[in-house]
Parts: sequence; structure tokens; C-alpha cells
Amino acid sequence: MNYLSLSLVELHNLIVSGKVTPEQLVKDSLELARKDNNNAFEYICEKEAIEEVKNLDPKLKDSIFYGIPIVIKDNFSTKDIPTTGSSNILKGYIPLFSSEVALRLKKAGAILIGKTTLDELAMGGSGTTGHLGTTFNPWDPTHQHLIGGSSCGSAAAISGGIVPFAVGSDTGDSVRKPANNAGLVGFKPTWGRISRYGLFPFATSLDHVAYFNRTVEDAALTLNVLAGRDEKDASSSLVPVVDFVKNINDSIKGKKIAVIKEIVDSINNKTIIDAFNKSINMLRDNGAIVDEVSVDIKLLKAIYPTYIIISCAEATSNNANLDGIKFGNRIEGDSFEQVMINTRNNGFSELIKRRFVIGSFSLLSENANELFIRAQKCRRLIVDAFNKVFENYDAIYCPASPSAAPLMDSVSDTLSNEYLIADNYLAYGNMGGFPSITLPIGFENGLPFGANLTAKPFDESNLLKIANSLEKATGLSSLVAGKEK
Ligand code: GLN
Repeated sequence: MNYLSLSLVELHNLIVSGKVTPEQLVKDSLELARKDNNNAFEYICEKEAIEEVKNLDPKLKDSIFYGIPIVIKDNFSTKDIPTTGSSNILKGYIPLFSSEVALRLKKAGAILIGKTTLDELAMGGSGTTGHLGTTFNPWDPTHQHLIGGSSCGSAAAISGGIVPFAVGSDTGDSVRKPANNAGLVGFKPTWGRISRYGLFPFATSLDHVAYFNRTVEDAALTLNVLAGRDEKDASSSLVPVVDFVKNINDSIKGKKIAVIKEIVDSINNKTIIDAFNKSINMLRDNGAIVDEVSVDIKLLKAIYPTYIIISCAEATSNNANLDGIKFGNRIEGDSFEQVMINTRNNGFSELIKRRFVIGSFSLLSENANELFIRAQKCRRLIVDAFNKVFENYDAIYCPASPSAAPLMDSVSDTLSNEYLIADNYLAYGNMGGFPSITLPIGFENGLPFGANLTAKPFDESNLLKIANSLEKATGLSSLVAGKEK
């Protein structure tokens, strides 16, 4: 049996009862990582993991992560372990400190098996733009379908059965979208809920620590480990942390859920709509009140362009430190300026440069009013519109994507509502800092697809309760590639 395909809870019970040892799990996980043919890994922690599991403190035995092999996206700093952001500009970079997320997981007894591939510096959604090339979707052994990104390697490692838990980051939808394509639970808690210390910043006002699990219960247990103020990250929140698992099985009777009509209407795929409608009935059967609610379509169409301007502007400024002077893959030159020019020209791919051009152009004083400031105002209107929905509803529920995993070379009509709304609306969760979770609701031609639930800031408990109730009703949990339920 491949224990690594189990949920955290199941695996933890086996470890505690002595049916499987952390040493064995780590050995098996490393072997599967070595055999991975989906390009999920930037670095496999061969020696480090073996060493760590040897020194595992038995006092941690009650921790859900005790002896559990995990992976972390390669844009989280890990001390003494190469961290590249899947970009040539950081080739060979070995951080001197660990991200808070990596530290908390280690303190909880998790064993880091590897650092995973991403779209370069987390800027992308296809899982094809990292410096190691395309990451493939384990659900399609013929490698014709995308897993999506930017947290592509983390999604591939967990859905491929290599680890039962994977860390990612989500600035626009980078965990919640690949979760759709890989049959996973993808969870982004509230902005500020989890420390971002040591996460390479892409767009600070939108960046969230996020992660993949196989069950909603696992997602809640993980939040218990990761949530909470960190003095090293001034943007981490002082809001008290509760036990997110305690009430997860409570009834959702009377919970009010809004389905946004314009988002659903922008989806053409009938299989997805049918499965989504069925899932609404399940929520109703479980006692929730589900209503169709309208949001101004102009605002929905503005989410993606607004996201692009704000995220590119912030990225331009955040990534100004990658200049080859202090660290990173330095290309020599006759002057400091020339070192920076050579390093940046050589280190960033065309796609990243394009984003920096968009960002710099939007920030130029002669353009800022028309672009950056306008995008900020637009963000306010978008967030206000969703906050208005939350005045009357506990959660918003919509399909996570207009399709299951797309084909490698699929092209979208970038001006269609399907692209502008259904394919890119999840960024509203980042704009408002709302907690947001994607979970599987169906299959099309052997490929899974999901739906998304989003709630008010810091209302993770309610969100997880609703998601858990839905997951129980669909029966679609613990999905691992190749085993359709
Ligand atoms: N796909 C989005 C982008 O291209 C989201 C990226 C992310 O969340 N990191 O920027």
C-alpha cells in the first residue's frame, strides 16, 4: 500500500499506532520524488530529509505533522537549501534563513522532502514558465494537460501521491486554480493569518501563504499549525487564532451561501455546470440556504485587468532587489550598473520582463493616475461589491474554473466573459484578503474539476465547516491521480 496517498489524519493514526514509521515514509517519499516524471521538483532533500527524520523528537508524536514528508514551493526561503523561485536569476542561491512557514512545519515534526517548481517567481498560471520548463499534471500520464500554476510542482507532488501535504503561495489564484486541475483541496486563509516572512514577495498587497491538502479536515488541522502572529512579519495579524477543527463537523443548517449569477453564466462547459448545480442541491440538503446573487458584470470583468496592473506594479518594485549585487546569479560587468543590467537581462525570462514593463509603465508619474491609481480605485469598488454580498451571506460559492485541466496548447479568447470572468475571477479573494478554498466536485473525461468557497476575512472556521459539509456530500476527498472515484 502506498501510505503516501492517504490524508494527514489517516497517516498520523498509522504513525501513532506504529503501523508505519517516519523513517519508512521518508524513504518511500524520497524514492517517489526521484522517480517523478512530472517535473515537480527544483531540489530533492536527499541527505537533509534522512538526517532530519533520524533526529525527529519523539515528544512531537501528537503533532499531526510528526514524521510527515512534505514539500514546499521554491519561493519560500529554506536555510542551507537552494531556493530559486524557478528563476535563473536565483540559480545557485542558498538562503541564510528559513521562512516562518518552513520553521513552523519543522517544529511540528514535518520532514521536508523537496522544493517544488513554480511559474517563474510565481508570476503565471500555466506551470510552464519556470526555468526547468513545464510541470505536468499527474492525472494525465501522456502529458497533454496542464496542471496550472504558479504552484505547479506542489500540486503535482501531492496529486501524484509523493507527499500528503504541499505548501504553495497564492497572489491571484496560484493554489486554488491548480487545485481545480489536480483534484485537490487548495486553501488560502485570510491575508495576514499566516506569516509571509521568507516568502519571496511578488505583490505584497495580494500575496498569501496557501497550501494543498487531500481533505478539508487536513486543511483545518494545517491552519492550526500555521496561523498566528509572527513578529518578523509586520503584516501578520494579531487577530486571535482559534481551533479551526473543533466545530468542523457541526451542521451548516441556516448558513447563507451566495452563488454569483454572472460568474456561473460566463461558463460554457455543461459538465461543470451540471456538477455545480448538483453540489448546490447537496448544500441545500445539508440545511444551507443557497441564493443566486448578482454582482455588476463591469466589476467582474475588471478583476483581471485590475489584478494585472496592481500585481505588476508591486512586482516591479519588489523584485528590484534581484540585481546580482547582494546575492543571486551575478553576471559580471565593468560597473555596478553594468552588473545589474547584465544580471537582470540574463536572469529574467521574457514573460517576467514584460510584467516589469507593465508595472513600470503603470507607475510612471505621467501614467499613474490613468493606470495604477485607477486600478487601486477599481480594486476598492470590486472589494466593496463582494463585501456587500458578505453583509447578507456567510460564503460565496462558484465553480473554481470554467474547465478541468486545460490542454497544453489551448488558446483562450482573452476578451470573452469566460476568460475575463470565469477563468480569472478568483483574484477577488486576494484583493479583499478573503479566506478562500477550492475543492473537487466532479470529473470530466477522467480529469477532476472543483468549486470555490470564499468567506469574510478571518471567518475560516465557518468557511471550513461549509467546505467540509460539501466534501462529505460529494465524497470527493483524498483524490490521487489515476484513481477516479
Ligand atoms: N495566474 C496569476 C498570475 O499570472 C496568479 C499568480 C499567483 O497567484 N501567484 O499572476
